[in-house]
Order: sequence, then C-alpha cells, then structure tokens
Amino acid sequence: MSGLAAWGALTVLASHHPVGNLTPQAWFVGAALASGAALLPDLDHPESTVSSTFGSVTLALSSVLNAISHGVYRISRTKRDPNRDGGHRGLTHTLVFAVLAAVVTTAVVQTSKSWALPILMFFFCGLAVRGLMHEWSPKHDAVWIAVTSLALTIACLKWTDQSATTAATCGVAVGIGCIAHYLGDAITEQGCPMLWPVPIAWRTWYPVAPPKIFRMRTGGKVELVLLAPVLTVVAIWLSAIALQRAGALPMLNGVRLIPWT
Ligand SMILES: [Zn+2]
Repeated sequence: MSGLAAWGALTVLASHHPVGNLTPQAWFVGAALASGAALLPDLDHPESTVSSTFGSVTLALSSVLNAISHGVYRISRTKRDPNRDGGHRGLTHTLVFAVLAAVVTTAVVQTSKSWALPILMFFFCGLAVRGLMHEWSPKHDAVWIAVTSLALTIACLKWTDQSATTAATCGVAVGIGCIAHYLGDAITEQGCPMLWPVPIAWRTWYPVAPPKIFRMRTGGKVELVLLAPVLTVVAIWLSAIALQRAGALPMLNGVRLIPWT
C-alpha cells in the first residue's frame, strides 16, 4: 500500500514532468512495479514473508542478498555501528540500493520490452500479491502466487501498449517503491539506515528515524488499526486523482477529487 501511495503521490505531484503525464496503461504498469518494489528491500531476510514469494527461487535469492548485505555491512561499518548481523536492514535498505534498482530496471527494460517487461511485471506482481494478500494465501503457497502474478501480468500486458511504457518510468516506479519501504521502516523502533554511507554521528549505518513518540512496533496495533487503513484510503485517493487526470475514469469526470483546488 505504501508503494502504491508513493507512486500515486509522485504521479499526481509531477504533473509538469513526463512521469506525471502517463497513459492509464503505463500508470498501471508503474503502480504494479511500485507496489511490488515496496517489498523488495526485505528480500535481504530469508525469513521475511516476501522471501517465500516464489518458493525456493526467492529463498535462494534472499540468501545471496543477505550474504552480500552482511559483507557490505562488515566492511563499511564504523566502530560506533553495532557489531550486528548486517544482513537484514542493510544494503537493500539504503538510497544507494533504490537508485541502483531504478537504474538496473531502466536498463533491463531498455534492452528488450518484449521479454524484459513481462518478466519484471511477473516478479514485482508476485511481490505485491505476497504483500497485499498475505492474510489469505498460506505462507508457502508459491504456486498460487505464481499463477496469480502470471494472470495479472498477462492481463496488464494484453491491455497495455508496451511502446507507451518508457523504460525510465519503470525505473522510477521501482525506485519510489523502495523509498516508500524505507520511510515505513524508519517509523518503526529500529529505524532505517537509508543514508548509508553518509556518516552521521560517526556512524555510516545510522538508523534514520523520527523522535521516539512517532515510532511504532512492526505489526503492532498502531500499524494495523491506524496506519494501514489511512494508507489504504490515501493510496486509493491518489490513484483516483492520477487516473482521472489520465482520462481513465470517465465516471469521475467533473468530480473535484482535490477539495482545495
Ligand atoms: Zn525492511
């Protein structure tokens, strides 16, 4: 939901920029990529929900990411950074990774839209389905998720004019999804070292976080009762504005979705 909300906010705010003037189809592709990318950073933890998305495939990927992340943490930490297992909330939780993910996505889509975009869509739809439907799909039901993401990908790409989806749009969507994840992690008790390797208080892995009273426990009451519903409403509202502008919602023609304009 945070990925979708961030994508909605970006496309609504960037109305004078190409990313704010997408066709409805391109907007949906971006929305799928951003929603999935908002779960991508937690692939650094083999026990996270998202690591079970495609069964052993994502579990193996997760182990590799965890090891790389752990290595980078050990090499680049200062004496002030705790001697923790840097595998989780490490490299994939930094802006450097978000930029890298955006650049790699752009490059991959640029090489070939006909095969690269469907594969990316399938992968990120899988992460999104895993995240959004975690309650009604059993934890290890990789086949179920693969079938759902395949159906979503085919539906999306059948309807989408792929030539209208620019590679850069896909890259931006993945990057903004990752950043949405960091902001979500930052308001938890552990914070998020998103500014690595910029040294703050003599620490390269400084956990960025607001003052303690604005932080919450992961999976706690505040997240489930307050944050999740508010985020859902905001995500739907921003998506409606973006789609109305793109001319995809004729039933909302003339409806003022932003009351103060
Ligand atoms: Zn995380």
